[in-house]
Amino acid sequence: METKLLRETEQDIQEAAAILRAGGLVGIPTETVYGLGANGLDSSAVGKIFAAKGRPQDNPLILHVPDASWLARYCRGVPDSAYTLAARFWPGPLTMILPRKDVVPDAVTAGLDTVGIRCPNHPVTLAIIRAADVPVAAPSGNTSGRPSPTCAAHMVEDMTGKIDAIVDGGQCGVGVESTIIDLTCTPPRLLRPGGLPLEALEEVLGEVAVDAALLRPLGEGEKPKAPGMKYRHYAPKAPVTVVLGEPSATADYIAARLGEHTGVICFDEWAGRFAGHVVENIGSSARKDEQARRVFDALRAFDHTDVTEIYAQCPHEDGLGLAVANRLKKAAGFHVVEV
Ligand code: AMP
Ligand code: MG
Repeated sequence: METKLLRETEQDIQEAAAILRAGGLVGIPTETVYGLGANGLDSSAVGKIFAAKGRPQDNPLILHVPDASWLARYCRGVPDSAYTLAARFWPGPLTMILPRKDVVPDAVTAGLDTVGIRCPNHPVTLAIIRAADVPVAAPSGNTSGRPSPTCAAHMVEDMTGKIDAIVDGGQCGVGVESTIIDLTCTPPRLLRPGGLPLEALEEVLGEVAVDAALLRPLGEGEKPKAPGMKYRHYAPKAPVTVVLGEPSATADYIAARLGEHTGVICFDEWAGRFAGHVVENIGSSARKDEQARRVFDALRAFDHTDVTEIYAQCPHEDGLGLAVANRLKKAAGFHVVEV
């Protein structure tokens, strides 16, 4: 299959919408990461997403809508809190889990009786969804297991020949996926940390429970509520070790262990310590927004080098740091040392 590269023009927006309406797959830019979109009401189109990504069938997709007025089309008994969150944070990096209506196919929800729904903050993708006039089911646009794409080039790397088109909407401004909040339980439960900090949700919702799958590797037979959280994810080919602690101490720890083919993910201030090695600096230690924007590109970059092991500095888990640390730990298969 030839994969067309589309741009942010009115003509290309209409073409992307037409492909979606016809049951095809389109790589779409969002503020979080690039998504791999299909008509969310068309089971056979949605099935192609799983094939193109090599995604396990039991891992549901998120439905993307252009505004909160679409919530009631696809969800039952939408609580006031969903509208309050939408008014405050949509369009934006927040996915809400709600009871689904029957119009949403099993292919989207992996058979669950809930659906994840989000309004992305990217003008081109909002225009495509409105022009297609269907909700767009989309997971991240990477091959399953690889780091999520944060620019069109990453999507080209993973999806060329497998999907109909990729819309180049520039670099993702947030860089990590949406925060997922389950509103079907009391208190609401954070299923995935992401581009909207937990603290912002707590301001609106009060108490928020945090799913155990975010904090530690799951035991044998344990089931996370967001099925995606159980898979190894975001991983470069070389094994990753996440080093927790004060940045000066973690820099010392890593510097003492550098072999010829060691790669390093570090904060800008410490990049000089690792001269002569493959270094991906992800921003200053104080700038978690920058770290979120850079983390997936950094993880991907090592696959184009000869590194055989990777050490990573890791931010404190407040604000966006919770999402950055989660992605690094998952990339490491929770191989973490504390210094
Ligand atoms: P991705 O954006 O590629 O990470 O894929 C969507 C994520 O949303 C996965 O981690 C899914 O497990 C999660 N998700 C989607 N729908 C639901 C749902 N109904 N309940 C819980 N998690 C969901
Ligand atoms: Mg994903």
